Amino acid sequence: MAVQPKQKLSMDSASENVFLKCYFSMPEKPDTTVRIFDRNDYYTVHGKDALFAAKEVFKTNGVIKYLGTGKNRLEGVVLNKSNFETFVRDLLLIRHYRVEVYRNASKSSKDHDWQLAFKGSPGNLTQFEEILFGSGGGGPGEAAAGVIGVRLGTGSDGQRVVGVGYVDCTLRKLGVCEFPDNDQFSNLEALLVQIGPKECVLPGGDAGGDLGKLKQVVQRGGVLLTERKKSEYITKDIVQDLNRLLKARKGETVSSAALPEMDRQIGISCLEAVIKYLELLSDEGNFGTFKITTFDLNQYMRLDHAAVQALNLFQGSSDDKTGTHSLAGLLNKCRTPQGQRLVNQWIKQPLRDKNKIDERLDLVEAFVEDSDLRKSCQEDLLRRFPDLNRLAKKFQRQSCNLQDCYRVYQAVGQLSGLVLALERYSGNHQVLLQAAFISPFNDLISDFCKFQEMIETTLDMNQIEHHEFLVKPSFDPTLSELRESMDGLEKAMQAALSSAARELGLEAGKTIKLDSNAQIGYFYRVTCKEEKSLRNNKKFTTLDVQKNGVRFTNSKLSSLNDEYTKSREEYEEAQNAIVKEIISIASGYVDPVQTLNEVIAQLDAVVSFAVVTHAAPVPYVRPKILEKGSGRLILKASRHPCVEAQDDVAFIPNDVTFSRGKEMFHIITGPNMGGKSTYIRQVGVIVLMAQIGCFVPCDEAELSVVDCVLARVGAGDSQIKGVSTFMAEMLETAAILRSATEDSLIIIDELGRGTSTYDGFGLAWAISEHIATRIKSFCLFATHFHELTVLAQQVPTVRNLHVTALTTDNTLTMLYKVKPGVCDQSFGIHVAELANFPKHVIAKAREKAMELEEFQDFSRVEEGSDAGPEAKKRCLEKQEGEKIIEAFLAKIKALPVDGMTDEAVKKELCKLRAEVIAQNNSFVNAILSHINKVK
Ligand code: ATP
Repeated sequence: MAVQPKQKLSMDSASENVFLKCYFSMPEKPDTTVRIFDRNDYYTVHGKDALFAAKEVFKTNGVIKYLGTGKNRLEGVVLNKSNFETFVRDLLLIRHYRVEVYRNASKSSKDHDWQLAFKGSPGNLTQFEEILFGSGGGGPGEAAAGVIGVRLGTGSDGQRVVGVGYVDCTLRKLGVCEFPDNDQFSNLEALLVQIGPKECVLPGGDAGGDLGKLKQVVQRGGVLLTERKKSEYITKDIVQDLNRLLKARKGETVSSAALPEMDRQIGISCLEAVIKYLELLSDEGNFGTFKITTFDLNQYMRLDHAAVQALNLFQGSSDDKTGTHSLAGLLNKCRTPQGQRLVNQWIKQPLRDKNKIDERLDLVEAFVEDSDLRKSCQEDLLRRFPDLNRLAKKFQRQSCNLQDCYRVYQAVGQLSGLVLALERYSGNHQVLLQAAFISPFNDLISDFCKFQEMIETTLDMNQIEHHEFLVKPSFDPTLSELRESMDGLEKAMQAALSSAARELGLEAGKTIKLDSNAQIGYFYRVTCKEEKSLRNNKKFTTLDVQKNGVRFTNSKLSSLNDEYTKSREEYEEAQNAIVKEIISIASGYVDPVQTLNEVIAQLDAVVSFAVVTHAAPVPYVRPKILEKGSGRLILKASRHPCVEAQDDVAFIPNDVTFSRGKEMFHIITGPNMGGKSTYIRQVGVIVLMAQIGCFVPCDEAELSVVDCVLARVGAGDSQIKGVSTFMAEMLETAAILRSATEDSLIIIDELGRGTSTYDGFGLAWAISEHIATRIKSFCLFATHFHELTVLAQQVPTVRNLHVTALTTDNTLTMLYKVKPGVCDQSFGIHVAELANFPKHVIAKAREKAMELEEFQDFSRVEEGSDAGPEAKKRCLEKQEGEKIIEAFLAKIKALPVDGMTDEAVKKELCKLRAEVIAQNNSFVNAILSHINKVK
């Protein structure tokens, strides 16, 4: 629980009334925006925000105070500076809320004229940067903090077009794109995964139809939605706005009217809305700093949200099927924040260009082969680099200080060591290392040559040891004088330390120390153990007591310290003009700092991949990449990298074989908990790893580049949800079908489990057949429908696989070995026993299983057998029933779902079901009643 602030929320009643009037006249806001009032030395929040702060920050309603009475009663909570910072961090980084900070513009403290001073949202943290990340590096968590604007429009051919505009304030990038999309917005979903924005701006208005669906897609990715007026999307000012924001190339002026991006009118209008939302033009610091690009959706492998979850790419994205490690957690062994951000970005943007993939693999291979180089980069060299992106931004805003300049100086100073280490590499990829790292580093060394000189000549290196960042005294006679007197004072303070030590019977520099910090200047410090020697000694005053000791002073030190502080202030004053000059020169180095940031990030990411390869329980291998369209995916002894990394798992490797025209569709059956999900997901993870240029957990791997990985994973707890789950699955899977090509990898897990076996099976069959015969993608389908395995007899490219287990009377041992063919035993009951289900539940299940077997006997009666008339009747009924089912399936398949709304599909489906039931066939009825019983 946070410490409660001492400040009181008290105003005299006149002032209180004015504040309340002002507060209640403020425009309405959503609950996801929190308004904070800055009252100089503390902050307050009111109304719902106060209740929220009480709960989140203080975990008690006891902190809530009330202003006003009756209708005007308003809750208030006081936050001190540290509560405020914690609260803001939580709101922006964890909850993804917006924050507005208001200041009283009125001169008199009694009057109230609260104006918005600054604001932040998850996609735009600029104004909160200091609070959120301090002067140190920002965490990798705030990787790409972008805002996306989306709008629907109509293309020249009358087709629906999605326009997207994108602003990333961290990387200073603007992006525009437009694309046609289906009614599930599959393309938009893939784009959201690739860009990973934190916020989305949408035109407000009626949320019916398309817009409602669009919102769902955006929110599925955990993106904060903000509605804007349609008028914000008007592009009349865009050329002028872009001319201001865009960075000119050397010798050119920006003329955005001629940009190719301008052709994408719908996308451009979204960009304009985002620019307005972020108020980029109200801050001159933004001028001339952005780059604009057209985002091509097809340059990277596409992933849908379901795939991001199924493959457990990021922390928290998992549905916990494959354990706790996310792929990002596994692959991120970076030493710098920029490296970590890049690995996260690479995971969202797997490559599709074989040459680019091979190049990244070459780089990784260089560090896999050369252990000395890998170790020295990882354990030593890379950790010396700060978050240069943050520093570049400070340079660009001229909000940096001498310490920031020194940090860049230090980073550049490390480059020669890095170049030396890289030059020692003598393997096959020398040329590539040269081009990717050594040359850029050497160029940077010469680019920064003058910068380094400037820092060396201007900064007082002696003082840096004491964490003081000052201009050299020799630079100016006033500075030299002040330095002399400060040195004198320091000596005097050392002498004061010795006499204090004598007086207290302690040893100077050992049991009593002279320390200083920015807030209180110089003080003495003893450990808490020595505190007794201070007791009852009136000559010393305790300043505070902390874990690392007691800070105190005496009159001698205190007056020396006052003098020192005064001189130091004068020193800072005198050096001010020089500091300004240094910072202005430094701000000219934004580009090289940014480049340095990028190259270090690349090196860190590549080294991280190499480290992971070695750290795995069994080292990874380099995958052989085949051109897209080669139709081969062969993995020998493949493993799931996240599952095998769990401590208590001895992972059983399995082979995977896909070959176009021969085997492209694998149906995997087998007992619950037998490893089906793990097997199909590991294929997805390995394909993704290969395309981001990482080695893979196999003995051998040969992969054709895939254009997308799509997943459909039945929600585990959906049995009870019935028809709606069935519909959701149906529609989502239909979306998969629409965006998949023969070069896609489709992973389907437990499809249809959420509905009755009968509906579910129909769906599973129709979808499988469509994928196997029409789309012909690489597909893995884990299912409990053994009936589906019959598909292998009808479609030559469909293969059956099963996960194996050993059963004896009372035990079931999972072998996790995937073998060809159909699994022929039902293990469900054994699994229940293993999971310690109550005995009566298991008994009931056995009973049900027996019923099913009886039913199977019924269905096995062959035509023409010498069975009695009753059996013959049953046989005819069965044939008829099968026809009814086939017709039902054919009708489902024939539904023109592309052009239908969800509602219409649902209606149509209910109709088809009713038709089946109306035919009153005893075979179908038996199935249905059995299903009902099982339900
Ligand atoms: P269900 O049908 O209930 O969804 P499943 O067949 O999909 O189950 P998984 O969830 O893939 O089973 O696997 C269950 C557990 O078995 C995993 O959490 C993992 O710990 C273990 N497991 C899976 N595959 C392997 C393997 N190849 N080697 C070792 N352990 C494995």
